[in-house]
Amino acid sequence: MRFTRRVKQRHPGSQREAAPVRSAGHRRSKTPKAHEPGPVPEHPTLPPEPPRFLQMERQVVADFRPQMLGELSRRVEVETEQLRRQPPICPKAGCGRTMHRRGSTSTTQLTLCGLLTIRADTFRCEPCKTRVRPLFDRLGIESGRISGGLARLMALLGVVVPYELAAQLVWILLGFEVNAMAVWREVQRLGAAYEAHDQARCRYHNDARTPCPEPESAPDVVLLEPDGAALGMQRKKRKKRTGSAAETARTTTPQPSEFREVKTGVLMLPAERTETSPGRRSVLRRVVVTCLGDADTLFARLWSAMCELGWKSEGTIVVIVGDGAEWIWNRASMFPRRCEILDFWHAVERAWEFARLHFGADSKATADWAHALAVDLRAGKVVDVITQLRGLQCGQKETRELLEKLISYYTANASRMQYDQYLRLGYGIGSGAVESAHKQVLQARLRQAGMRWSVRGATHLLALRVLLLNGRWEDLDRLGRPSLAT
Ligand SMILES: [Zn+2]
Repeated sequence: MRFTRRVKQRHPGSQREAAPVRSAGHRRSKTPKAHEPGPVPEHPTLPPEPPRFLQMERQVVADFRPQMLGELSRRVEVETEQLRRQPPICPKAGCGRTMHRRGSTSTTQLTLCGLLTIRADTFRCEPCKTRVRPLFDRLGIESGRISGGLARLMALLGVVVPYELAAQLVWILLGFEVNAMAVWREVQRLGAAYEAHDQARCRYHNDARTPCPEPESAPDVVLLEPDGAALGMQRKKRKKRTGSAAETARTTTPQPSEFREVKTGVLMLPAERTETSPGRRSVLRRVVVTCLGDADTLFARLWSAMCELGWKSEGTIVVIVGDGAEWIWNRASMFPRRCEILDFWHAVERAWEFARLHFGADSKATADWAHALAVDLRAGKVVDVITQLRGLQCGQKETRELLEKLISYYTANASRMQYDQYLRLGYGIGSGAVESAHKQVLQARLRQAGMRWSVRGATHLLALRVLLLNGRWEDLDRLGRPSLAT
């Protein structure tokens, strides 16, 4: 690893002279020209050096880094001295003796200021034979070579862009040459630490024995949009059978079982919705909760998040907007006061599907019929719509079956389709927030071309990504000494 910023000067000899002039016999361009061609273009070259100011600025940073490292080292030395003046007490139960210094060990840590060498004293209680190195605890230094602020910035870059690119950014932004693996390790380590913290908090809030005080001012209404999105997973390792062409084919073709659903829920307060421009509402605060797990895990986490936010009281109505997936409604009952809403756009899309088959894919009749139906649904006339659908005559078997499906879908969800009321109450009728959360949490980082994830790799990255998108990145600073996740 290199610890100083490279101030690269381009070699003057590397400049290209003017581009070679084409010989007379060279084939002319195929496109006919209306006017005479101008002069032959010259090959553009960059100036041999960056501007003077840029060089000075970078040189100052490079020159003063050793001084910063020296100062950091001095401050660590002060802490070491304090520990020597006040040696630790033996941690063994019932001992209470003051421990004595017995030598020291030296470690190096890569920090924002450069590579820091730390000598940590070892203290010993002779009768108990216990040994401690209290400096690391006192400073909160993490195990592993990269520490503190640098580790967090590297993880941040790895959370935002793919690891290879993040490693490049570490070089450009921070002047440290690291590889993708080093970035991956920091994401894993901090992600595992935060995930463990989040799980512990979740267990606390979901345990009936723990106190759950009513918040002083819980909101009257909380909006919840849960939904799932697929994530490509790595195949489980098979026993290798060498030389088999069939085996190779099987390992390269994606199988349906290689996908897992990332379940996400977005929590919002309808009271915080503001009108940014006439007719266009945007939500100020949204809290994203996600997991690569089952529906129960997601709802346990949502519950925990609501407790943490102080958004849960006996009087709070939880408005749940879902796409009709059973796992959502099956768990909605955990909220005694709730309002279930079927996502309006899903409801309308089902009607379009039928209309395209019944009236023809591109016909005006399809559009007119579906639009009229959408207007009726929005007006809360779901019962009328069902009656109208029952009166339709369909000749073909396939169309008839689709109509039957549509009728039973609307009938089953009729109580969740009182859209006029929901709009009047300011609840909203669509699940746009969770759709956009999928894009930000998953698509933008974990669903790029060819990406396949391990369960742990995805879980740790998701934990940090949600932390960042929820505006809680600073929480990472207060995690106690995350150890290396291997
Ligand atoms: Zn002792």
